[in-house]
Formats: sequence, structure tokens, C-alpha cells
Amino acid sequence: MSVYNFCAGPAMLPAPVMAKAQSELINFDGLGVSVMELSHRSKSFLAVAETAESNLRDLMSIGDDYAVLFTHGGARAHFSAIPQNLLAAADCADYLVSGQWSEGAAKEAKKYCQVNAIDVQGNLEKLKALSQGQGRYLHYCPNETIDGIAIFDEPNTTQPLVADYSSCILGRNIDINRYGLIYAGAQKNIGPSGLAVVIVRRDLLCGAQPQTPSILDYQVLDAKESMYNTPPTFAWYLAGEVFKWLKAQGGVAAMEAMNREKAALLYDFIDSSDFYRNGVDPSHRSEMNVPFQLANAELDAQFLLEAEQGGLMALKGHRSVGGMRASIYNAMPIEGVKALVEFMKRFENRNT
Ligand code: PMP
Repeated sequence: MSVYNFCAGPAMLPAPVMAKAQSELINFDGLGVSVMELSHRSKSFLAVAETAESNLRDLMSIGDDYAVLFTHGGARAHFSAIPQNLLAAADCADYLVSGQWSEGAAKEAKKYCQVNAIDVQGNLEKLKALSQGQGRYLHYCPNETIDGIAIFDEPNTTQPLVADYSSCILGRNIDINRYGLIYAGAQKNIGPSGLAVVIVRRDLLCGAQPQTPSILDYQVLDAKESMYNTPPTFAWYLAGEVFKWLKAQGGVAAMEAMNREKAALLYDFIDSSDFYRNGVDPSHRSEMNVPFQLANAELDAQFLLEAEQGGLMALKGHRSVGGMRASIYNAMPIEGVKALVEFMKRFENRNT
């Protein structure tokens, strides 16, 4: 039986990447040792690191005016690092709050700067009226992983945009030049957890706040090519394998087409049924995380049990939302989404 893993993160990784990693796990590059046992300064690992970065630059058309940093600490490390690197404590930044993750980012930033929170939760129409803010940058989250809410169009402002791309990086083409900084925890569309990627316009880095830990100081990381201290080498290697796989699939454009198709399949089915529902405004429905509820929540446990028995893993919604959530990142093949829809149909038929 095939198993499809719908976990929101750590999420499934492409099957060919996992098979390759397994095949070279204890003998990398003919060296007789694992990549995770190599010095981060060895020739072999430096080649891994450089190839990963250059492939990511290719995939996202990132120019030399941007630093690409491979860091520790997941995305949350950057909730703290971003204000410390981009402004002084007395400065103000605008934070668009569209769901739980952007709310978390705004809360953390308050420790390091003045925060002007712009709450659009429950009324995404407000996004259209967004005008130029006063803050040194505008932070937002284009894909709220928990709420299943996407903001597809960049906010209409000339302030530097700072965006938490944790759950949608490489899922759609974006113009990086519209952004001052984007960051992402790796464990959805990039690789294993613990690693985060930061892409930042170098001219925005004009000295971090004095208390900033050196491991989160972007200028230090840039100068040391993300090796100020020992980086998460295995995660970096695996991210590099994911980037190679993405290129072989046709790059981000191919992912974007496939992600649209997968999401449409699932939302169309949900909309056609009275048994399931998704309450997100259709123009802001995430293509990566699809939360849905059963009309009768008493059937939730049975749904999850039978799904699991049928090889459909980790469909339980976030504890704060309840119901279900299907995360369908780049690595999820369309067959997985088809299997889910077929299961949902059968479950509905058996329970109505
Ligand atoms: N931002 C978003 C949008 C996320 O989905 C997550 C994790 N689910 C985070 C931030 C936090 O990431 P991490 O656990 O890597 O710190």
C-alpha cells in the first residue's frame, strides 16, 4: 500500500530524494563516510553547500545583490533576527496579521522594535485598501500554514517587504526583486527541520542591534558564507538534493502548475459536497495547506482512523483549529491528492 503523508511539517520529501539520500547515507561521494560525518570545511561539503546555493539562486532567479543564508533555528529564529538585523530598537515596522504565524512574528518582533500591527484576520478584503505604511519594512506571511490562508499578491507598498515563506517557498514563481527579505523554515518545501533559509537584499543590512547573537547576525553569516559556526550540514545537503530534484522537474513553474492542479482537485471536491467544508475566501485559499471540516465533527476521529488505515497519514487539523488539514506541498504527487479525494468520497457515501 502506498502511504501519502499530509503532515504540515516536517512534511514529506520527494521520494527520489529520499532514495538517493539512503543510497549514499554511509558512503558519500565514494569517501566511505556519511555526508553528516564530514567537516563543514572539507572540499566535499563545500561543494555540496555551493551547489545548493547556486541551484536555489537559479530556481528563484536571485541576483548577487541578495545574500542567501543557510541558518539554524527554523523560521522562528528569524522572527527575532529580522527586526534585530533590519532596524534599531526605536524604529517601527509594520506587521500584517493574517493568521497565527504572522501574529507570532509580530509578537516576537515587539521585543526588538516598535510594531504597528495591521490586523486583517476575518476580513481579507482590507488587504485591497492597504496603503503605504510608516514602518521601516512591512512583514507579512504569504501562506498561513495553520489557517490555510494565502496572500498571493504582494502588498501594495514601496516599503521593503519582508515575508515568511516557510510553507510556500518554491511552490509558485515570485519576483524576488519585489522583496527586501524572505525567509523560510526548511521542513515543508525544502528539507529537514532545523534549517532555515534567508534571502536578503544586502543593502538593507547596515549593522545589527548590539545584542544580536552572532549566529543570527546576517552580516556575519553573509561574510562567513553561513559557516560562522557549524551549520546543520545534513539538512543543507538534503536541501541541495531537493533543489536538484526541483530543477529536474522543470523548476518552480512546473511546481506551480502542479500545485494549482492539486489544490483545485481538492477544493472543487470539497465545494461540491455538503459533507465537507472549507471556510476560507476562495481568492485566498492556500494551495499548500487545505484545512477542511466535516459537517458532523463527531465523525472526525473515525475519518482520521480510516484515512490512516488507508495510507493517508497526518490529516488531523492543527490543535487550535480542529477538523482536518491536508498539506500538499511540492513533494506530494497528484496521485496522493486523488487518493485523498477518492477516500473522502467513499467516507461520505458510507456516512450519509
Ligand atoms: N512560519 C510559518 C508560516 C510556519 O508554518 C511555521 C512552522 N509551521 C513557522 C513559521 C515556524 O517554523 P519553525 O518551527 O521552523 O520555527
